[in-house]
Parts: sequence; C-alpha cells; structure tokens
Amino acid sequence: MTDASELPEDTAYESNNLEFMTEEPIDPQRLVVISNRLPVALKKVEGRWKLTPGSGGLVSAMAPVLRDRGGTWIGWTGTSGDVDKSLITDFSRNAGYDLRPVPLEEEEVRGFYQGFSNEIIWPLFHGFQSRCNFEPNYWHDYLTVNRKFAEQAQAVSGPGDYIWVHDYHLMHVAWWLRQMGCRRNLGFFLHIPFPPVDIFVTLPWRAKIIQALLEFDLVGFHTYRDRRNFIQCVNLFNPGAKTRGRGPVVTLTVGERTTRVGFFPIGIDYKAFSDTARKKSVVEEAHEFQRALRKRTIILGVDRLDYSKGIPERFEAIRETLKRYPELIGKISLVQVVVPSREEVGEYKALKDEIERLVGEINGEFTRPGYIPIHYQYRSLGREELIAYYRAASMALVTPLRDGMNLVAKEYCACNPSGVLFLSEFAGAAAQLQNGALLVNPYDVVGVAKAIHRAYHMEKAERSQRMRKMRETVRKYHIFWWVDSFLRAGFGRTLDDFPQEMTGVHFASEMGEPHE
Ligand code: UDP
Repeated sequence: MTDASELPEDTAYESNNLEFMTEEPIDPQRLVVISNRLPVALKKVEGRWKLTPGSGGLVSAMAPVLRDRGGTWIGWTGTSGDVDKSLITDFSRNAGYDLRPVPLEEEEVRGFYQGFSNEIIWPLFHGFQSRCNFEPNYWHDYLTVNRKFAEQAQAVSGPGDYIWVHDYHLMHVAWWLRQMGCRRNLGFFLHIPFPPVDIFVTLPWRAKIIQALLEFDLVGFHTYRDRRNFIQCVNLFNPGAKTRGRGPVVTLTVGERTTRVGFFPIGIDYKAFSDTARKKSVVEEAHEFQRALRKRTIILGVDRLDYSKGIPERFEAIRETLKRYPELIGKISLVQVVVPSREEVGEYKALKDEIERLVGEINGEFTRPGYIPIHYQYRSLGREELIAYYRAASMALVTPLRDGMNLVAKEYCACNPSGVLFLSEFAGAAAQLQNGALLVNPYDVVGVAKAIHRAYHMEKAERSQRMRKMRETVRKYHIFWWVDSFLRAGFGRTLDDFPQEMTGVHFASEMGEPHE
C-alpha cells in the first residue's frame, strides 16, 4: 500500500516544459482554433451572465500558443440566446487572443449536438452501434451548424493563418470552407477513436464524412489504430487512393487531393500534475483519505458518467475478485468517482441507476463491520482533491470499453510514482503505457480479478519499475509536445519537416498483435 509520505521526489522532470522546442521554430502563422465549445463557460446567475474560464488540458495547451502567435478561438457558448458580449470582450483582452462565439438556436443544439454528435457519432465511433439513433433530420442540423462555424472561420481568418478544427462535432467544417473558396491550411484532430471499417460503413452519411475529412490538409488521430481504420475507410470509398510515407505522419492522395494523416497521442501537463501531487496540502489530504479508509489498499476509478467507461463491468470485476480471493475481503476497497454527465438523457440516467444498483448489491454481499468494498461518489472533484486521490490510491482501475486516449490514466502516473495502473487494452493510452501498465480486457471480469490479485502481491520493486517507465513516457510526450508536433505536421513543407520519432507508441500491439 502506498504511504504518501514515502513517495520519492520526482526529480526526473526538468523545469522547462517546452524543452522539446529546441529545434527550429515553427512558422509564425496566426492560429484559428475551432472547437464545439469556447474555452469559457457562460452561465446566468441570479439574472446576470457569469463567465468562468475553462481549465481543461486543451485550453491550457492552446492558450499560450494563441497568445504568442495571436489568434482566435471560435466556439459555441453552451447556451442559446444572447449572452453579455462585454464579458467576452473583457476575457479576450486579458487572455491575449480573441473569442468568437457561434450562436446556436435551441433546435440546432438538439439536432447537431445532442442528436448527430452524441446520439450517432459518439456511440458509433466508440463501437456501440446498437446505441445509435440514425435519425435522418440530425444530418441536416449537423451540416447547418458546421457551416456556421465555417462562416465564422472564413470571416476572422487571413490568408496566412492556420485553422485547427477539433473533434467529431465539426468534421464537415473544411468541406464548407472549401465551398466558400477558402484555400487556407486546415488541420483537424479527432479526440475520440475512429472505428473499424465494418462499423463505420453502417453510418448512412459515411462517404460524405470521408470526403469532408479529406478536405483538411492534415487529419490527426490519437493512435496508429485509429489512423489505420481511417485509411481503410478512405480506401473503401476511393479505390485509387495512395498512401505514401512511414512513421507517424503519412500522405494520402485521392485524385488531385493530398491529405496528411497522422497520429499524435495527446498528453497532459505532466509537470503541473506532478508538482501539485507533492504540495504539502495535497500530501496531507492524501494521508487523511488513507486514514479514513483505515490504510486499506485503495483502488481508484475516476470516470465521467458514460457507457464507454465500463463502470458496471468494473464493479463485476471487483465482485469476482472478492469471490475468487476471499482473503482480499477487508483488504481492498474500490473508490469510484463518477462525474455527472448528460444526466438529462434517458440512457445516462439508466446507466446511473444500474451503477447504483450494483454498488448496493456488491456492498450488500461483502460489507463487514468497519469495511465497505465500494466507496461510490457521484460528484465532480476539484483539481487538488482529485490529485490527492491519485496520490492516496495504490492502484488505479482504468477500464473503458473504448476510449480515444483516457487522460485519467496519464494523470495517475504523473501523481503517483509507486502506484499500479490497470489499463484497458481498448483505451488509446494503452499504446503508450503498455510498457508498465497491467493491460486488461474490461469485458473479461475473471482476467481483471486475476490482475488485481497479482498486483496486490506484486513486489514493491516491480511496481516502481513499471511506474517509472510509464512516467517517463507521460513526462516526455506531454500536452505541449502534442500541440507542437501537430502544428509541425500541419506547417511542414515536406514529410521531412515534422518529427518522425515514434511518439512513445508500441507499434506491434497497435497493429493488433497480442499484448502479453
Ligand atoms: N476530471 C475532473 N474532475 C473530476 C474527475 C475528472 O476535472 O472530478 C478530469 C480529469 O482530470 C481528466 C478529465 O476529467 O483530465 C477526464 O478525461 P478523460 O480523457 O479520462 O475522459 P473524458 O471524460 O474526456 O472521456
């Protein structure tokens, strides 16, 4: 079990997060970032608009680049109707870059965001085909809203600007921009998985999505596997397509058009996480947490409420562990934090009910005086509280059924030098972290139970050695590396202009070979 006070100082990280930027600087073009949401949250409190700056990884990674180069962030405010524009102007002045809100009507939000994005693309791209609602009207709203984003981009950008579009909500933006005669350099990054061809072909608008994506000059994915899936889909609809190059970025030529296609696994701000994990207040909070659980081995799960995260399957694995290895009753506790998400959607409400039913059932079966097997929390944690949890937990159980990357896995590594990470083979992070994680198939509850048993008895030296390797990868391929390598691939004139190193990815397993 991890004693927070015994964690070694992390001296491996040099103080400068931008150390990789020692090569030639990338071209000084202005940047236009487009994402579904602006990097701020706007809410009406007691009749007045309130603006809160966002704090996610993407926001903190893009903000310095936007400030240095100058630029604009285009996105939806998250609300319909008019918002107080002076708040946005004030934010822009302080942030050093402009914000351009894209106003959306309630009906558009329904069809484009809740409908096409979250009832079709999200489940389909995560491999949950039977959860898709292929409602034909959603497509129309998706196109209309993508056009609105493109119009803003066309209006605010100049000929030398680089336009970087993010994620599955906005796959059609380049297509609209080209229709408007825009010849600017356009990049796209998909933050979720790209599905295998047999799943993708069920999408009624499949050929149009492929065609739209090929209008970008660079299309980026998290992993080799996602890129391979995409290229296979392009080949299916364009039999003459030609792929050239090796390594993380290749070119794909369809007719007259050539698109670069690469994989760039997103990282975290390693230094910010590892520094915070060593703060006195955080160390004390971690101790407090361990004391409250009577120094039992804490296994941590942290997930948004989503069916892709495999929370019920994880609970079944805990049940199986306690059944199979009764000597662990009283010794291990799962602390599961579920962050509220999309609660208004029936499917998510049903998932919450299922999770709570399972917690009741398993705790009913294995609770003993002074011992509870699953500590369930349905809330969002503050940054430092979350890091204290990472630090206090001897093990982290990260078992999504499918995930683009999974940042929780990387954050845990940055915060806990002696922890054990169980990681789903189906998380994008597995491609980089299989050097130290115990890889599991989240559907195989017996396999997960065996892995937990093995980890419980693992020598301290093996745990530290495994974690050291993962920390090195997370440290090296951090969020600023990610931004820089994507932009290098976007700006570079030839295939030699961007980094060809392997992004910490293990090719063999990425190509579908067994992990063990
Ligand atoms: N997170 C948070 N508060 C919480 C729990 C998680 O801010 O109470 C953050 C966490 O630090 C991580 C993100 O939420 O950066 C989750 O990212 P991940 O890639 O794991 O999953 P996603 O929710 O994006 O699918």
